[in-house]
Amino acid sequence: MQFDVVVIGAGPAGTVAAALLEAKGYRVQIIEKQHFPRFSIGESLLPYCMEFLEEAGLLEAVKAAASEHHFQFKNGAAFVRGEKYSDFDFQRKFSEGPGTTYQVQRASFDHVLAKEVEARGVGISWGHEIISVDLDGDNPVVGAKDEEGNEYSITTSFVFDASGFGRVLPRLLELDRPSNFPSRTSLFTHIEDNIPSNEFDREKIRVTVHHQHQDVWFWLIPFSNGRCSLGVVAKSEFFEQFESSDPQACLRQIIDDEPSLKELLRHANFDTPARMITGYSSDVSRLWGDGFALLGNAGEFLDPVFSSGVTIAMKSAKLAVETLDKQLKGQQVDWQAEYAEPLSAGVNTFRVFVEAWYDGRFQDIIFAENRSTKIEEMISSILAGYAWDEANPYVKESERRMNTLAELCRLS
Ligand code: FAD
Repeated sequence: MQFDVVVIGAGPAGTVAAALLEAKGYRVQIIEKQHFPRFSIGESLLPYCMEFLEEAGLLEAVKAAASEHHFQFKNGAAFVRGEKYSDFDFQRKFSEGPGTTYQVQRASFDHVLAKEVEARGVGISWGHEIISVDLDGDNPVVGAKDEEGNEYSITTSFVFDASGFGRVLPRLLELDRPSNFPSRTSLFTHIEDNIPSNEFDREKIRVTVHHQHQDVWFWLIPFSNGRCSLGVVAKSEFFEQFESSDPQACLRQIIDDEPSLKELLRHANFDTPARMITGYSSDVSRLWGDGFALLGNAGEFLDPVFSSGVTIAMKSAKLAVETLDKQLKGQQVDWQAEYAEPLSAGVNTFRVFVEAWYDGRFQDIIFAENRSTKIEEMISSILAGYAWDEANPYVKESERRMNTLAELCRLS
């Protein structure tokens, strides 16, 4: 089999990359280990990712599927700490671009994207797994295995690894590098929330800070069918204090210990088994090499707190396709300067915000009493995903601006 590009994985990074490549006339094959719909975490999207969906020609399919699949219109983020409530409206932001998006059950969302790219002629080998890669010859050769265990190989001009937490090429090529973030664990489920409408703005993700530990937080991500994704994130040690090893019982106990959530979820029906993920932050020594590039979570993954994962995944797809398109047209390209560095610029903005979230600086900014409208719009932009907009001072000088603002907020 001969393809221009083999894409490993049909998550958002893989399908957006495939759609963009297909539109440019390349022969693309996605190899996807699972059959869709399949569960995936990462349900709150950011408005910036709507631009990538549009550019890839996938936005109409998402909009058309929104009602059937209970995608929830989203216009911002709300934060709760004790009695304090603070929210950001993404429509009031510094950067140009969409100000709203959706919260989605990823099983449906990823399936909608995959079906759309398949309908356009991109082949997807469902249930096939990439098990090896050989980059020594003129062209990359990837080894795959079908569901019967039959092995075969595919020669291609280039490989995009969009395998997410599967991290196929980082493992095979020994590119994995430990993340700077400590190992955290997330425990989560889906519930029928039964929250009275006057107590919950369903158009925003709700992030609650633990009443005793500033580095422990909860997400509540509403869908449009009266259900929510509910999760808690903490260092792995935090979970050891709970007697039950059953994730469901442990999650119930943690929620019952958190006054504002206990009240909000007093009528909730916990009808779905809880799941746990540990140590998901990851990094790599490089994002590209001869014949391959790492997209989305197969590269670096920071942290779930600002829901940046899918947006970064799609941004990486766009940058990688632009770079590869030049290369396949015979132009000289510099993958470090044209792919890795531009991608890392925005990832590094998020990194500053994530670090400041866990050490409390950003929380003090969020919950400050008198917020300047201008600064609020700049921060709102980043929370909406526009972490690459160098015109925003909080992008250009994230760390310095963050420190100064946190200091001012603490003094006031
Ligand atoms: P994925 O979506 O993981 O897709 C990778 C695909 O590759 C999978 O379908 C997999 O089956 C396939 N694959 C794996 N190995 C192989 C193989 N060997 N061969 C073939 N196929 C393979 N992000 C957000 O944007 N919003 C959120 O609210 C959010 N919340 C999160 C909460 C938690 C607790 C965590 C851990 C992450 C969260 N994220 C969130 C991040 C989000 O999950 C990821 O960033 C996003 O799914 C990455 O997309 P992707 O396309 O890179 O990979």
